[in-house]
Amino acid sequence: MSELTLERLRAEGNALMEEISREFYLAHAGFKSDAELVPIYERHAVVVSDDALALAREHFQATSDSASRILLDFVVDTRAARALATNDEREIAWESTAMVQLGDGRAIPYARASIEIGNLTDRRERAALDTARAKLVQAELAPMRLERLQREVDLMAGMEIGPSYNATFEALSGIDLAKLMGECEAFLRDTADLWRELLPPAAKRSLGVPVSELSRADALALFRAPQFDGAFPGNAMEPAVRRQMGEMRLDPDAGGRVRFDVGEREGKRARAFCAPVRVPEEVYLVLRPHGGQGDYMTLMHELGHAVHFAYTRADFPFEYRWAGDNSVTESYAMLFDHLTQNRGWLARYTGLGRDLPAYLRSAALEELHFLRRYTAKLIYEVQLYSGRIPWSSLPDLFVETLSGATSFRYSAADAFVDIDPRFYSARYLRAWQLGALLAASLVERFDVDWYRNPRAGPWLVENLFAEGQRETADEVALRVSGRSLSFAPVINALEGLLA
Ligand SMILES: [Zn+2]
Repeated sequence: MSELTLERLRAEGNALMEEISREFYLAHAGFKSDAELVPIYERHAVVVSDDALALAREHFQATSDSASRILLDFVVDTRAARALATNDEREIAWESTAMVQLGDGRAIPYARASIEIGNLTDRRERAALDTARAKLVQAELAPMRLERLQREVDLMAGMEIGPSYNATFEALSGIDLAKLMGECEAFLRDTADLWRELLPPAAKRSLGVPVSELSRADALALFRAPQFDGAFPGNAMEPAVRRQMGEMRLDPDAGGRVRFDVGEREGKRARAFCAPVRVPEEVYLVLRPHGGQGDYMTLMHELGHAVHFAYTRADFPFEYRWAGDNSVTESYAMLFDHLTQNRGWLARYTGLGRDLPAYLRSAALEELHFLRRYTAKLIYEVQLYSGRIPWSSLPDLFVETLSGATSFRYSAADAFVDIDPRFYSARYLRAWQLGALLAASLVERFDVDWYRNPRAGPWLVENLFAEGQRETADEVALRVSGRSLSFAPVINALEGLLA
């Protein structure tokens, strides 16, 4: 057997990522009925071999530079994904066939339950459907998720990188979990008064429910809010976004490297997504324009990812093009999707008109809810993965933490289900911080309407996108703005929506 070298590991890693990403693109865009990942992992088995782990670990311990950390993180992540693939397949199969049984004999597909709950205007019907959903989750999905979590914790211990799951994550990601958790606790305190001011009138007006009685099912109904959808027509979406990108001199096609897949096709996912099949040469942006504010926001988010990948330097090593701190790519996605909360952008590129102030107020409520939910998730997930709390005590902690932060009563059945594996919640929270910091520094550089300043697009490409994920989100923040990541610019932006 030939000796495994770092060069070969990078080349095989690159091939694996390209093939997996292409398979996802083909499956989710409706060209194939499902993604066949196992044969791809088998073709590139060397990436998940013990030799690869040992090589990447030794290289990291010898150099402890960021490129070697990113490569080790990639190997560990891929090994975990491969090892948990059977769990994931079982879960996906369950989710596509499970039915929620209602007391009156009706049954609703589990996959549609959240949407159905959000659409129900009768509060008792909403509660009944959610109770039935929770019962099914408790009996069937929660045990599968718990088993997956326990396997994941054992797998990470076996990588021999840190003394605990959380220490391993911190060593691989460069993210300080205790620090982020402290910021999340401070965020919840700092925004408590604002939340107490915003939620009660909205809950009363839209749902007719006092805050003391709100449940998670009510949250789904409250934030369903379709009243502004008319100002976001599906056929105007792509032209509006292209006009804006043109005004800031950013080519959304990236000279042909971003391919817009907008055709109707059987089996194509309803929500837009971005599939970077070769970075930077071949990136798909797949969408089915339905219209509505959610559709605009998703397109902007995925476009942020797409231009990031498509403008990444082609001469960069594999690590910086395909791996690294996903807080960075999520922050560029959020920089773009938050334009759908920007007063000037909305006035210029949508038909909101006189509804703009009401829309911004509703956006502030939704944004603050989303942030309080995610900060609480991170606080809970750090404790879940800490190993210091017995699995049997976690459902109570979940209900207490999430209900306390959001004012909506959560269900204990979701304690192992409503989780972002491997702390993806930390990536999102840091992306919120970096995205808001970047938006503020773009205003300083290019003025409030930076999104139509012809110097802004080239600046974004040169200073952000070209760098791929060479740096962590903390490093990008310091280089670009001279400031550290924090929730301060996030709270500023939120207050700006209400001003
Ligand atoms: Zn994203």
